[in-house]
Amino acid sequence: MTKAVSYGDADVILHLFTERLGAVSAIAHRAKRSDKLAREPLHTLQVTLDEREGRELMTLAESRLATPRLALLSSLDAMELAGGALALVRTIAPPRVVEPELWARVVALLDAPSRVALAELGLRALSIAGFGLELHACVACGAPCPSGKAALVSPERGGVVCRACGGGRLWLSGEARAAIARAGEGACGALDEGHIPRAVEIVSLALAAHGGVVDSRRWATMSSR
Ligand SMILES: [Zn+2]
Repeated sequence: MTKAVSYGDADVILHLFTERLGAVSAIAHRAKRSDKLAREPLHTLQVTLDEREGRELMTLAESRLATPRLALLSSLDAMELAGGALALVRTIAPPRVVEPELWARVVALLDAPSRVALAELGLRALSIAGFGLELHACVACGAPCPSGKAALVSPERGGVVCRACGGGRLWLSGEARAAIARAGEGACGALDEGHIPRAVEIVSLALAAHGGVVDSRRWATMSSR
């Protein structure tokens, strides 16, 4: 689950990121008095959803805790990182599109939150969502950017923008550019601590450019603690 929002006196709308259906929303009737633990977004739930034709909102028929993550609740840092992963999914996962890799990586992050894992998840999620950055050539003129060479990157425009084309607003060393590109291609362990601030900035600006403004700001805050 990525978010639970109260609806009326007794109902709750759940925003779920599911393994089998992708991102879905479901209404849980009379849920407020039921088990609060099962509505904590950090845990993995096993849910049964009812669907009515023509209605986007599904109905929660049944839910139980499949993987409780109580240890997360005792660490503010871990909760922020987990919250960052869930905010990212809410922003980026299109409704009803099954995303096995994103699912697996979000679960892995919730099981073992770290700043590196969240920054890598952010870069990979952009690629999965089709907003991946071109870091090997200028997005405007196509001029290749030789490996090892620093470059100017515009997350809003989707990657490297060479000086002749106006330049991007973020300066990336050749080494950081290669590491961030590898993370976007899905490599785990591509980033080290030193890459995190730039990676977070890139993801948050790219998210903002693609409409996830509120969550992108929140994401940057969560990821930079
Ligand atoms: Zn160019």
